[in-house]
Amino acid sequence: MRRILMIALIALFMTACAEAEDVGPVGIAIHGGAGTMDPEDMDEEREAEYHAALEEALEAGHEVLADGGESLDAVQAAIRVLEDEPLFNAGRGSVFTSDGENELDAALMDGRDLNAGAVAGVRKIRNPIDLTRLIMDESPHVLFSGAGAERFAENFEDELEFVDPEFFHTDHRWEQLQEAQREEAEQGGEFRSERNPGSEHALGTVGAVALDAEGNLAAGTSTGGMTNKRFGRIGDVPILGSGTYANNETAALSATGHGEYIMRAVTLHDISSVMMYGEKSLEEAADYVVNEKLVDMGGNAGVIAIDGEGNITMPFNTSGMYRGSIDVDGNVKTAIFAE
Ligand code: ASP
Repeated sequence: MRRILMIALIALFMTACAEAEDVGPVGIAIHGGAGTMDPEDMDEEREAEYHAALEEALEAGHEVLADGGESLDAVQAAIRVLEDEPLFNAGRGSVFTSDGENELDAALMDGRDLNAGAVAGVRKIRNPIDLTRLIMDESPHVLFSGAGAERFAENFEDELEFVDPEFFHTDHRWEQLQEAQREEAEQGGEFRSERNPGSEHALGTVGAVALDAEGNLAAGTSTGGMTNKRFGRIGDVPILGSGTYANNETAALSATGHGEYIMRAVTLHDISSVMMYGEKSLEEAADYVVNEKLVDMGGNAGVIAIDGEGNITMPFNTSGMYRGSIDVDGNVKTAIFAE
């Protein structure tokens, strides 16, 4: 509670300064994954842990914006906190592949010029979001995968933390893999293309979107993917326009949910296009794509988004999504279930 109050005060102060100095408003939104969630399954203590982790990430990102920093840096700062928090399926808390490995995907995009960096299937980088920034800033390429991504990363040993793949082993994710594989065996060992909508262990991904005082938008997303995913599977997160997208002309967006559907629907670029060509507001466009188009396809998903005026929307078609925001007026909000 005290932390929320502190963040709100800083945000209010920021708003007052912005008005005085005539700099633009700032805002940030984050998510920690969408999926099937039942309030009955979560005790108060656990719920409080999620809220505290979301607040910490919001605070890290908002502090950058409050200091006049860039939205890209704010997104990176917020995601770094979420990647280090084992509660979420990204970085430290990543889920396991069917082979019992952790293969991490991430992306970062700059709304100013559509510049971007992305990685798929990395196993030794503690904070994949930091690697995406280096790919964006220091390479002529956009997307690196696996061993090549780690080879590129070796050029930046001072900026990145390398870890043993064992670093990503957490007992609760290991147990989720065992459970998923038991379920699969019960269904005749068949390699299911559908994610079981009722299964909590499939949950995951973290993301952040921000608007800075210069009016620039940025988006980032990071994930361990889906529990029991097959070796080498790459999800929507590093595919620009699917799980991560930012464009100053429309919005900054980050998705979570069943990656195969999010990719096939090119979800975030679609939302941006509905805004640009359909002349819809961010809220209308995101609601249409998440709650109509994806629902018709059968894709479970959630999206967080912010536009150039600081409007924030966070639609999801699942029963919950870990999420939070600090809007342009300094209102701080964290939530888990549908309201
Ligand atoms: N979208 C992620 C993926 O498919 C997983 C998730 O957000 O739950 O890799």
